[in-house]
Amino acid sequence: MPFFSPRKVKIVATLGPASKTVDQIEKLIRAGLDVARLNFSHGDHNFHRSLIENVREASKRVGKPVAIMQDLQGPKIRCGKLPEKGIELKKGDKVLLYPEGSTPKTPTTGKILLPISNEIALSVSNDTSVGKKILFDDGKLCTVIRSIAPPEMVVEVEVGGKLTSHKGMNLPGTPLTIPCLTEKDIVDLQFGLSMHVDAVALSFVRSAHDIEDLRARIKKFSSHHPLIVAKIEREEAITSQHSIIEVTDGVLVARGDMAVEIGAERVPTVQKNLIHACNELGVPVITATQMLESMISCPTPTRAEASDVANAVFDGTDAVMLSGETAGGQYPIESLETMARIVQESERSKELYTGPQGILPMAGSTVDSIEFSASRIANHVGAVAITTITHSGVAARSLAKFRPDTKIVAITESEDVLRSLAFVWGVQGLTIPKIVGTDDIFAVVENVLTENGLADPEDLVVVTAGVPTLARGTTNMIKVHRVGVPPLKRTPRTAKS
Ligand code: ATP
Ligand code: MG
Ligand code: MG
Repeated sequence: MPFFSPRKVKIVATLGPASKTVDQIEKLIRAGLDVARLNFSHGDHNFHRSLIENVREASKRVGKPVAIMQDLQGPKIRCGKLPEKGIELKKGDKVLLYPEGSTPKTPTTGKILLPISNEIALSVSNDTSVGKKILFDDGKLCTVIRSIAPPEMVVEVEVGGKLTSHKGMNLPGTPLTIPCLTEKDIVDLQFGLSMHVDAVALSFVRSAHDIEDLRARIKKFSSHHPLIVAKIEREEAITSQHSIIEVTDGVLVARGDMAVEIGAERVPTVQKNLIHACNELGVPVITATQMLESMISCPTPTRAEASDVANAVFDGTDAVMLSGETAGGQYPIESLETMARIVQESERSKELYTGPQGILPMAGSTVDSIEFSASRIANHVGAVAITTITHSGVAARSLAKFRPDTKIVAITESEDVLRSLAFVWGVQGLTIPKIVGTDDIFAVVENVLTENGLADPEDLVVVTAGVPTLARGTTNMIKVHRVGVPPLKRTPRTAKS
């Protein structure tokens, strides 16, 4: 029996040391996990390989498809490895930043030593200047540059705090000259492709060109073409959002670095605009970062966090995401359960929903017109499900654009397609063996739904498909089908209508 969620909005969770075993991941899936995010800023290939294997095993145990999203680090400078407990920085402390693995040349007396990513230290220290700020850990700690001797820099702490291994650093106001994909990213990408990940998230995207460049590289390296998710976190990307959304397969509102780059006060507006722009084109959008941050060390969320998750649901986001809460926090399962509960409760208040209103644009494609009508018909006749037989996933994504109240069941022959739909609002589904031309597709649908407890005899279901070929891009038919009405027989292969 497949595992169907009662929610429409999907849940992405970052896996890490607090969520790495098959048992832990199985609990996350049962609590509602749809997409596992692996952050390649942290952990080595062996760790990520075992996470991928464990996700696949846990997904099999639960009977629910779970997509794997590889998140590439991008050109971000990070602290190197620090003592297990981290280091404490106080206001006024002088800190010497030097490339990890090298011996500092700047005099070290009276300074705290802080190793940073060595591939990027040189270019960043050349690009920036004395007096500029360097922020740490999504902007929680703040320092000012006092001297530069490339690749080393001395900074003075303005806002202190605890710093642990591999936390990110930001230099607001210093334009990045390094490309989106670093050497490490390319090695990581090849690893991800070899592991058949379902999506690749690209950090610090600047323009549509960055997405096209990644797509070209993927094509060069592999016959497997995962979805590309653009992480929007820089000013340039916000300015170019429309052209980025046109070429990407998904968008991630990466509020962590975004807040540091553009100021936290602008994040809510940018989030709403991005969600709206993605919804218009039917591009799945994930809202991310600090959604339940306090649950890293506390079993209940703050009121503001509960509101944040709910507001993303009301905005029309396809998915919400957990980061440190599940990757390294003390309450990974509780965080996921809490998120699922907030999503479910928020979805009940339809009058508060301000996301897509399911309006069909004047000129459109056949598939949009069919799926739009299917969503209206399903509502009108009180169907228990809208079933879309989808070859490439396009029809299911189109249906989701119209945000039907009715359960969406995507039926596809491909496990890859089914996992790609894990990012899409409201779409759940099943795989079936290849449909042959002589099969009665209504009998197939009926069997799939009744055998999986998704419909009972006499229920109405709305079916969309491309007949007669069921080939890619041919959706052209809607039927309102009553389950269990003759002349259908029980076996799909032999049934004839
Ligand atoms: P990004 O900018 O990509 O979001 P991040 O450092 O903020 O990078 P998150 O994925 O948001 O990372 O996760 C939050 C925290 O969880 C990280 O800073 C890190 O401490 C921890 N974490 C995440 N993944 C791992 C991992 N694979 N191994 C160890 N710690 C991890
Ligand atoms: Mg983060
Ligand atoms: Mg980031």
